[in-house]
Amino acid sequence: MHHLIGRRIAALESRQRLEHDVRESLGRVVAVFAHMDDEITSGGLLRQLGACGQSRAIIVLTDGRANPKTDPGVVGGRDHFEVRREELSEAAALLQIPQVLAEGRFHDFNLKSYHDEAAGYLRRQLESLRPDTIVTFEPSGTNYHPDHVATHHIVRAALVSLKADTRLLMLTPPGLARLIFGSRQRQPAKLLELACGAPENQVKCKLVDIYRSQRPTTNQFLLGMQPETFFGRVITKEWYYLCGWQ
Ligand SMILES: [Zn+2]
Repeated sequence: MHHLIGRRIAALESRQRLEHDVRESLGRVVAVFAHMDDEITSGGLLRQLGACGQSRAIIVLTDGRANPKTDPGVVGGRDHFEVRREELSEAAALLQIPQVLAEGRFHDFNLKSYHDEAAGYLRRQLESLRPDTIVTFEPSGTNYHPDHVATHHIVRAALVSLKADTRLLMLTPPGLARLIFGSRQRQPAKLLELACGAPENQVKCKLVDIYRSQRPTTNQFLLGMQPETFFGRVITKEWYYLCGWQ
């Protein structure tokens, strides 16, 4: 029992706050996601980096056409990718991120099959953007979505040809969300914890609103709660772990 308590205390002590100086040390940040709307889960970090004047860019790998929960009432007769890309543009404007790449080259729910092609594409983009830190999913994709898991592996493959000190800041579900998402990811030794205040929660709520076509999916993610309740009272933090690309 004492052993267990000791381990728990050690786990708590290994949680470091993602404070201003740590955020500034991230340098140029590029966030690489699978889908247009994934940035909601890193919305607090992206907002805070912007408030510090940090350079940020977003790359989305898939076309987002295959989500069966996309609201047909919002899409109408239009192309799913075009609708979602418009939503991403609104999201980028809200986050004040000028560089957003979403070319829809790789099909949704099938990203793994494009591994080599996607890694080559991403490597070219990263060589041009030259990030110091890449934000992406942990190896389990945070929720085992196959495109999220594939994104993690594609990022790692792409990083091989970049400068060796490019760091990975991997998004991992915080606290209760680990249980909700069923993450079986082994808890990393050191977590960076970002406490989200009212400004971050407001941004996340607005992002949920912007992704009108994805509301059935975000409703599920929010456990049926209003975004204000979910981000303000249930999942009030973001967790990341930082490592070199190897
Ligand atoms: Zn996703």
